[in-house]
Amino acid sequence: MKSFEYVHILNIEEQQDYISFFRQKHNDGLAKVRRFIKDNSTKLIEEYNIFEKELVHQYKEDLDSYYAKIDLWHAKKCYCGSDLVFKNDYGFWGCPNYWSKTNKHVTFKHNQSEVFSQNLKHIKVRLSHNWSTEILKRCKLNKQITAKELILFYESQGLEDLRAKYGFKHSLKSISSFILANEHSKREEKEIKDFLNPFFEKSNYQMYIKFKKISGKEEIRILDLVVSDEKNVFLIEIKRHNIYIDSEQLCLYRDLLQYIMTQKNDKRILVPLFIVNEYYRQSINNSSCINFNELKEISSKTAIKEMFIKNAFS
Ligand SMILES: [Zn+2]
Repeated sequence: MKSFEYVHILNIEEQQDYISFFRQKHNDGLAKVRRFIKDNSTKLIEEYNIFEKELVHQYKEDLDSYYAKIDLWHAKKCYCGSDLVFKNDYGFWGCPNYWSKTNKHVTFKHNQSEVFSQNLKHIKVRLSHNWSTEILKRCKLNKQITAKELILFYESQGLEDLRAKYGFKHSLKSISSFILANEHSKREEKEIKDFLNPFFEKSNYQMYIKFKKISGKEEIRILDLVVSDEKNVFLIEIKRHNIYIDSEQLCLYRDLLQYIMTQKNDKRILVPLFIVNEYYRQSINNSSCINFNELKEISSKTAIKEMFIKNAFS
């Protein structure tokens, strides 16, 4: 087992201190970002306008070259001015001077009209989902300002989200999906906790553990769920689905909890395991885990414990 200088479970007060410390840190960070935006507001607005102008210009060029090609098709002419010839053997229209390198040439398929109407559907404003980060990079402020805060700033100035303006999904919807996923997983954790609670004498949800490895620095980790009875302590790590399984993480948690148990002379058997909400068989991660959808079909404690022990992480 890894050697620790100390390991202990935070009490409620220490937990609150830890949470407010992080909240404070987050707020300080946000205040700093907003200061950077304020100090660079003129430049950021300028870059927005330049960026949008370039975008529209590119779009017009794409359309122009599309229509220029259609004109050539109708006139059966090449870029170089030569009349196109239909190559019967190959089934396409080509330029007789294709070998000349001084000009660009064109070829058309026999069903070119269909190709054109397909192509038109794909001509769109070339706007990536991280356009705001691109602007920040141009301003050399991508280390200081987050994409989300920049978009909020633009909107406060009456400058629309460019993705929304040009027919894509609003940028903040893509950015916040990670945050949403995080909240979602908290809900899933609670569902698993609520399911297991009636079966076990003790249940500990989100256990904050402070520890220091020898010659390491102090760290705090949050264990998702620990349920126990007189024989076993089940250390449960909950994941959205099995590709997020992190063996090292659970190894560390197991060592921490085992350390605490040994100190308390707790002789019960510690069983670490993963519970996932979705399981992908194709996943490269073959660690054993329990699928919550299968678990919640079980209605006896004996069967649950059996499942836990059989699928324990080792
Ligand atoms: Zn030509």
